[in-house]
Amino acid sequence: MKPSSLLPTFQFSQSSLQDFDTCPRRFKLRYLDHLRWPAVESEPIQEAERLARLGADFHRLVQQHTAGIAEQILSDSLVESETALQNWWQSYLQHRPPLPAGTRLYAELTLSTPVRGYRLMARFDLLAVQPDGAFLIVDWKTSLHKPASADLARRMQTRVYPYVLALAGVAFNGGQPIDPAAIQMIYWYPERPDQPERFDYNARLRQRDEQFLNDLIEQVKHAVEMEHFPMVEDKKPCIYCVYRSFCDRGDKAGRLADLVEEPQEILDVLALDWEQIAEIQY
Ligand code: SF4
Repeated sequence: MKPSSLLPTFQFSQSSLQDFDTCPRRFKLRYLDHLRWPAVESEPIQEAERLARLGADFHRLVQQHTAGIAEQILSDSLVESETALQNWWQSYLQHRPPLPAGTRLYAELTLSTPVRGYRLMARFDLLAVQPDGAFLIVDWKTSLHKPASADLARRMQTRVYPYVLALAGVAFNGGQPIDPAAIQMIYWYPERPDQPERFDYNARLRQRDEQFLNDLIEQVKHAVEMEHFPMVEDKKPCIYCVYRSFCDRGDKAGRLADLVEEPQEILDVLALDWEQIAEIQY
């Protein structure tokens, strides 16, 4: 029998690679079987949905602001919104990462680069191209908890985003390759506006990530060929996983108060239709 293989149109993202890295079974259920929402992820579900909605609203506000809609118009649009969203908005207005005059802003930008025969996508909340040639990737985080800096540094997103920009960002650098050392990434939390997490990039990290991402995508290809997607041994990730009833890993959802991921990020992953996203491919 001919071994299985990934469709050539399959597109990797930090989310799918994070899922594979966390639990190969989750990757299969989500990205190959397209299985959705067999169980709630966290309790209380209404609160998770509320936070997801607030997160989406916050991202939309910032995107509109970046597109040039006046602050006052956006503030006025919030008069009947929840206090939490109004507070996040004020937090953003007063403490967002400072950028020099002349910075070019690109919100909700998707870039991709080929890796091992597949596209690796990165969708930036904001890319700021500064007049001195510095590139800042900003990711707005509306989760209840801010993970430790070391945990954020290990995240797939922290590796994938600067890597993709370094390889696919020539059009934003006058047609020249971007020096990895010119790239910085920030996770910015409206709940903790004075504690942004900054990660510098450089040629060594780019090299490291290239090796890591190539190896990881090869592992995915091998798993598909072998049709081997084991469940994660440590059951901790199962507590917040929507597939736990499917995997017989418990029927009780994890507490929202303990969740460090953003509910809205998880919703995004499931709702995302890459083909509908404006893509810039190089
Ligand atoms: S419930 Fe656990 S084993 Fe099943 S897909 Fe989720 S993380 Fe993997």
